[in-house]
Amino acid sequence: MAAERINLLDFDREGLTRWCDGLGEKPFRAVQLTRWIHRNLESDFSRMTNLAKSFRAKLEELAEVRPPEPIREQISSDGTRKWAFDVGSGNAVEAVYIPEDDRGTLCISTQAGCAMGCLFCSTGKQGFARNLKTSEIVGQLFWAERELRREAGTDNPNDRMISNVVLMGMGEPLQNLEAVVPAVRLFMDDHAYGISRRRVTISTCGLVNQMDKLAQLAPVALAVSLHAPTNELRDKLMPINRKHPLEDLMAACRRYLKYAPRDYVTFEYLMLSGVNDSLEQADQLVNLVRRVPCKVNLIPFNPFPGSGLAKTDRERVLAFERRMNDAGIVTTIRKTRGDDIDAACGQLAGQVKDRTNRAVRLIRQRKEAASILNAAGKEND
Ligand code: SF4
Repeated sequence: MAAERINLLDFDREGLTRWCDGLGEKPFRAVQLTRWIHRNLESDFSRMTNLAKSFRAKLEELAEVRPPEPIREQISSDGTRKWAFDVGSGNAVEAVYIPEDDRGTLCISTQAGCAMGCLFCSTGKQGFARNLKTSEIVGQLFWAERELRREAGTDNPNDRMISNVVLMGMGEPLQNLEAVVPAVRLFMDDHAYGISRRRVTISTCGLVNQMDKLAQLAPVALAVSLHAPTNELRDKLMPINRKHPLEDLMAACRRYLKYAPRDYVTFEYLMLSGVNDSLEQADQLVNLVRRVPCKVNLIPFNPFPGSGLAKTDRERVLAFERRMNDAGIVTTIRKTRGDDIDAACGQLAGQVKDRTNRAVRLIRQRKEAASILNAAGKEND
């Protein structure tokens, strides 16, 4: 049986240099290869014309450039595109492309499923399958950029379709640092995608120790999923809070900012009707984040079947936003995109495979949501 080929999408430039060295090739070959693969988006070694023929022959024998296979595509009326990629064993992950006038953003996944179990999250409900490999993370950008360039009728590497990358799709990126760090380095490498580190954002639910590691290994822009202003509520919505409570998380944000490319952290705050959206909670949120240079992003909830949670109405979101801004915390409301294709985390892949006992989970989910709503109702009385 032939040996399995090495997927070169698994290597950042340093890794590729080591691999080339193992073949007796000079470091500049790794630069050439990186440029062919990640700037020209070329996967056919025979077309890499400035490589020596003998090197191309070795590559053809030993290696491949293989992004994950897209198995489904949805295009929204607002131009948002969503792809589900097959990552084997019946698992799929998704990437979402959001075109805007001045930028093109790709939201990518880092795990098949997620182990964090946030109550409001469709991906969390599907359970955890496995960490993605670097090739599967980078492969989402490689594939999407190549597809968008092809559609635009250009093969010029300077015609960049994707200017921003956010690691906010399926999974908790900081639980998969080993694969995420080389991927992020490739996003920022001028010989690869050349995206500024201000335009690469990692979103975390608050893994404090890994935030410190990320600051040392690849300090990109940071978004923290907050979603509650008190430990009591956050413990219920996000189990990670029981391990890393809010005071530890705020301290970790302040430490991260010493290394971050932006001088603020973005706090994501999902607006859940009757759960975390009162003006009193806005005041608590102000007090919580006051000592961290930050921007707060209010996100309209996108209900999914069986979530047991509802979206806050527009008036209430506006009032919450006003209260925060009046208190001096820069706060905006995220524009919803791709509503008609469920372009929120986990919803397409969930149709591909539900790897848990869905019925049991949904019943438990409804009960949990009902008890939080009850408790919130009593507090507001
Ligand atoms: S919100 Fe993020 S961390 Fe929480 S379950 Fe969903 S994917 Fe995982």
